[in-house]
Parts: sequence; structure tokens; C-alpha cells
Amino acid sequence: MATDTIPQDIASMDAATIERGLPSFEPPTLEALIRRTNREYWDANAPTIPDPLYDRLVEALRRLAPDNPVLDELGESLPDGPVIEAEATATIPPEDRLGAPVRHTRSMLSLGKCYGAEELLAWAEKFEGEILMMPKMDGVACSLRYNDKGELFLAATRGNGSEGEDITINALEVADIPKQLDAKSLAHSGLANSELSLEVRGELFMRLSVFERYKDQYSNPRNLTAGAIKHKERGKTAAYTLSFYAYDLLNHGLGHEREKFELLKALGFSVEECEFVARDALQDSFERWSRRREAIDYEIDGVVYRAADTGEQARLGETGHHPRWSIAYKFQGDTGTTTLEDVLWSVSRTGTITPVGLFKPIELSGAMIGRAGLHNLNRFEELDLSEGATIEVTRRGGVIPHVERMIAPGPGAKKFEIPTRCPACGSEAERRKKRDGEFLFCSRPEACVSARLGELLHFAKVVDIQGFGPKIVTQAVDAGLLSSPVDFYALRTEDLETLDRLGRRSAQNLVDQVEAHRSVELPVFLQALGIDHLGRQNALLLADEFRTLAAVRAVDRDTLLEVKGIKDAIADAILGGLEARSELIDALLTHVSVVDLPEKSEDDSAEQPVEGVLGGKSFLFTGALEAFTRKQAQDKVEAHGGVSAAGVNKTLDYLVVGAGKGAKSSKQKKAEKLVDGGAPLKVITEAEFLEMIGE
Ligand SMILES: [Zn+2]
Repeated sequence: MATDTIPQDIASMDAATIERGLPSFEPPTLEALIRRTNREYWDANAPTIPDPLYDRLVEALRRLAPDNPVLDELGESLPDGPVIEAEATATIPPEDRLGAPVRHTRSMLSLGKCYGAEELLAWAEKFEGEILMMPKMDGVACSLRYNDKGELFLAATRGNGSEGEDITINALEVADIPKQLDAKSLAHSGLANSELSLEVRGELFMRLSVFERYKDQYSNPRNLTAGAIKHKERGKTAAYTLSFYAYDLLNHGLGHEREKFELLKALGFSVEECEFVARDALQDSFERWSRRREAIDYEIDGVVYRAADTGEQARLGETGHHPRWSIAYKFQGDTGTTTLEDVLWSVSRTGTITPVGLFKPIELSGAMIGRAGLHNLNRFEELDLSEGATIEVTRRGGVIPHVERMIAPGPGAKKFEIPTRCPACGSEAERRKKRDGEFLFCSRPEACVSARLGELLHFAKVVDIQGFGPKIVTQAVDAGLLSSPVDFYALRTEDLETLDRLGRRSAQNLVDQVEAHRSVELPVFLQALGIDHLGRQNALLLADEFRTLAAVRAVDRDTLLEVKGIKDAIADAILGGLEARSELIDALLTHVSVVDLPEKSEDDSAEQPVEGVLGGKSFLFTGALEAFTRKQAQDKVEAHGGVSAAGVNKTLDYLVVGAGKGAKSSKQKKAEKLVDGGAPLKVITEAEFLEMIGE
């Protein structure tokens, strides 16, 4: 294929098209695509294709044209200006060289990559001795240079490998980077009077626990790390609490990686976990890290293996691009396509309203993922999402799920719109420009947060959805899982289990609790809305008087005032509250069925007992019933003038335990506890129930 056959649409070609075309691309096309996507990743911080696909483009070009010049240009493009030799920077004050291009004394080569056990084993067969393994961090690689007194004089980014960018003045603010090496260890090491200055290489990164603070405004920790370390304003870097992981030491004269890492530690560097792995456990160790990935407090996109014996390293040497003694094994399966089901607008505790895509759960890097933040408004508008759309989802660095793009719009093409009001408190929503794009904010954040927590806790308590105490609810609000009571019904196990110390089992229990409360009695529902003056007492009064939710919602002021005990101010509060929560009620009704009371006959009065042998008593069923289905049993209750209850609580009159086999249900245990506590509730058998209704 000649140069003139490069596809016309190279600038806009999307990931799926690249994926399809990859096997047939010739070097000129690969070269153009690599240049484009490299620019997007490093310079614009806005990649449009997943990392593994980018890696495959590079691998394909390397195979077809190993000497292609683009392979030497990978990485960041460099700032303009005269290039300073690394050693020469020592004579220039750090404040005068921030951002200047710096030539590394020894190139910072990238690592060769492998994607399978066979490739890994083939690599390991080329040398003798132990193998070191460490996480492959998704951060900013850099080089630190120390003079013979152990003082830091240069910090530079990797850049394109041979030339990087000076970041010394900002690196001095990173607590994790020693400004002065431990003198004793330095003296011991015999490095102090070496002719070559000491070079430490490692990765600058941001811990995910730190990134939590910025996740509303930045798409990923790596971009933020790059921005923070290159900050043009003095004194701004420290606040970002960046971390530094030292993974290599040059000019050391040591025989083994173990000694190297020990020396790094002694000199004052933080060293993340690394381990020595047996040859027959190479693939196992990769899989173990792949599983652990989510539990680690930083993003990794694979693991790195290294021949541990430095003699072997010297023997193997390097190619033009990679050292032969080390290899990166990258995680796969970070990208998938699925169907978008809904978009929620999650309100953070600071009042930022972020769109969250809910989609059919798919497995990405070993975990089921069902939702992803859609970041800022510009991004949301760009995605142009519609209900039922086919979307591509990735997990950046294997951790943070991200909707990359819409592959095809949904069948009905109902577009998701940006709300004009805060979904949590109803205050006006405002668009504001931030450094990273436009965002939506609640105009009354303080009032919004406490009101929201209160509303959610109240709802869970009244409806008796157990397990949602202040701690879980606050965490779920922070994680963007809960903004309004409606969100309880959208919770999924895979979302909840990401919360602090909540395992799969507890998460499942919470979801089961929600499931068990999809049917709610009218008075409970009214009380759960959290309307002023609509507490338990008035909720019962209203339910008894108007019988159905529809009737309660339609009531006018005069009719309401006729109810005994409802005075002017109370009527106004209730009517105002129902009006303000109209949207919430509608939304809840798509998830919950409200159990209305049976209609009163004309001559009924409040004093008369409800008709039917069950006389208005409430019933709940548990265990496997023999005579009928759960639904048939509930119909029987209602046909005989009783009420179907939604859960076990003090207002329940009868718990009917099915005659079928099985362990005691949680409902029964709870009911027995209530009985022990003196509640008038009765636990009866299925046979006793049949007797009551005369069957
Ligand atoms: Zn609000």
C-alpha cells in the first residue's frame, strides 16, 4: 500500500473502525494513526481510543517497520527552547528552568509488552536467575538526579525517552521525593564519590484516595498528576499530595535487584510492593495482581517483570527501543460494549451534579460494572446519549469506569437531557465553567446536602429498608449512588460492594432489603415522603379518609380541612409538600407499588369495623406456602377485609408462616423478636390462616 492510500478519515477514525481495519493497515496508515492518538493521549490529555488498542497499533508498526521514525517519537511532545543536558542543569537555579527540555544522560526506554502466558514464558527463558515483579503504574514516569552530596538537582519527565521536561522546582514540593538522600546510606553504598551522579527513576502518581477529592472535576488521576507536576504557578504542587514510587537506580554497581531496592529504601525512597516470583508461578502472579487490582490505592495497567540478576541484565542488553531484561504484561479486557439503560444525575456533597450512565452490567477487567460517571457537561453533550444506545465502556487503569463513546443510538432515540433543577433538592441547577470544562451545580449546596441525607435516612427508616444507616447512606451519597429515595431502587450489588469495607454479601443483603420493599402500604408511603406535618399519625388519618394515593394527591384544601385534626397550617404544609414532591412520587411509582386501602362503602363511618372476617388486620407471608402462591394469599387477605403488609414491624398484626420446608426466615426471626418485646403481633401457621378465612 502506498502513502497516497492512507484512508481519508484518519483524523476522525473511531476505535471500532481502527479495530476492524488493524489487521490490514500498512505502515503509512499505522504511522498516521499512531501520531494522531499519541498526540491525543499525551498533549491533549483526551485519548479517543483505549490504551490496549493504541499499544496494538504500535506493535503492528514495530513488526512491519521496526525502523520507522515514529517509534522513536512516542510520548509527549516537548516544549520549545534549547535542550539542556541533564548534568548541566545543576548550574541553573531550578526556578529558571521549569518546563525546559532536558536531555537524559541515558535514554528512558519504554518496556516491551506481552499479552499472554506463552510470550511471558518465552521471555523468561532467555536468562537465568530470579525474576522481580512489580506493579505497572499508570502515572508520570520521571528521572531524579542527585549530586555526590546526595542533593536533588534535577527532576525531569520521561518525555519522548531521550528528552524530557524539567519539573525540578515542583518536584521539590512532593513530600515523597527525597531532596537530600540519607548520608549514611549514601556513604555505605560507595556511590558518594562516584564520577557519575546518582539517578533514580520512578513514577509520580496520585493515590485513588487522594483523587477522590478531585474526581468531580478530573477524568483520571494520571492527567491530574501531569497537570500538578507541571503547574506553572509556584507553590501549587504540594496541595495535590502526589506520591512517588522509585523503581530503578542507575550507576549502582550492585549485583541483584534485591540489593538495589534495599538501597533505595535506605536512601529514603518509598518503594511500592514488589516481589520475587518463581518461574513456574509467573502467570499465577499476574492473575493474582489482576484480581487485587481493585483493592490497590492507585491505578495500574499491568505488571512489570525484570531479570533480577544485574549481570544477566548486562548480558541481555537492550534493543533500540526496549531493555531485553524487562517486560510489561498488560491487563486485558478493559473495554466492552453494552446497552445504556438510564442516566442519573448524582449530586455530590459539594453540590456538583454529575451525569452517571447506568448500563446493562458487563465484565471489565474481572469485575461486573453497571455504571460510569459521564464527567462534565461538554463531554455529556458530545456523547449525545439516547435511551437503549449501544455504548463502549472502558475501565481506565482498570479501576475507573468510563463511557468512551456512543456506538449506535437507541431504537426510540429518546435523548437524555441536562436537568434545569437539582434532582436532590429542587433548587435551580447552574452551569459553571471550571478548568476542566463546564459542570452543573446545585445553587444551594449546603441546604441540599443535609436535606438529602435526612430525606434518604427518613425514607429507608419509614419503609423499613434495613441496613441503610447514616454511615452507609453517607458513603453511598459520596459515591454518587444515592441522591433521591428513587435511587434506592436502582442500587445493584456491584455498585454497593465498592463502598468501604462492604463485601459482596452485605451488598447483596442491602439489595435484597430494597427488593423486599417494592410494595408499600399507603400510610407508610405517605409518611416516607418526609413532608412536614405528614408524620405517622396524619399519614394514617389521610389514608383512612381518602383510601388511595391518587385520591390523596387530588385532594383540595377544603376537603382536607374537613378531616378531623387537620388545621389550616397543617393542610397548607401537606398540600405544598405533595406538590413539591410530585416528581419524586411519580418517579417512585415506577419502582414501587403502593397498596391502597379498600374503598369504603357509602354508609361506612370511621367507628365501624372494616368489613370481612379479617377486619382490617394486616397480614404478611413468609416461607413456602402450600395452599397457594404468595400473590393468591394476598388476594385472599384483601378479599376478606384484611390488608397485605409490606414488612415485619410493630404495626403488623399477623405473620403467616408457610407449611413448606426450609429454615426459619429472617421475617419470622424478626417477628419473634418483636413478640418477645411485647408487640401484639401474632405468628400463625398457614393452616391457622386458612381456618381464619374459613377454608
Ligand atoms: Zn440541590
